[in-house]
Amino acid sequence: MKIYGMDIKSVLIGGYEWAIEECELSGEGNEGCCNTERFVIQIQKGMREETVFATLIHEMIHAVFHTTGGDFGEDEEKIIKHLDMLLSKAIYDNFLKKKTRKDK
Ligand SMILES: [Zn+2]
Repeated sequence: MKIYGMDIKSVLIGGYEWAIEECELSGEGNEGCCNTERFVIQIQKGMREETVFATLIHEMIHAVFHTTGGDFGEDEEKIIKHLDMLLSKAIYDNFLKKKTRKDK
């Protein structure tokens, strides 16, 4: 998967490698899926780059919770939705965005 000029085929989370797949996911509003049995993160094809990145971060947090044994039950999705957009934007703004202005 290409994102912000990076070619991402997998991510490492706690020493485990999770494959990244772009695919056609069924179901409305289904932007991503974290398959904890196959260690695969699936991302819906054809979305805007910011949404792809936010979805990747979202699914990575699911993977982190799976790895650490975090059990938040039905609240897990709610918790992650509070984190994904702003966290992905913060990661982009602080580490990925090309520094163009008076940034030092
Ligand atoms: Zn989710």
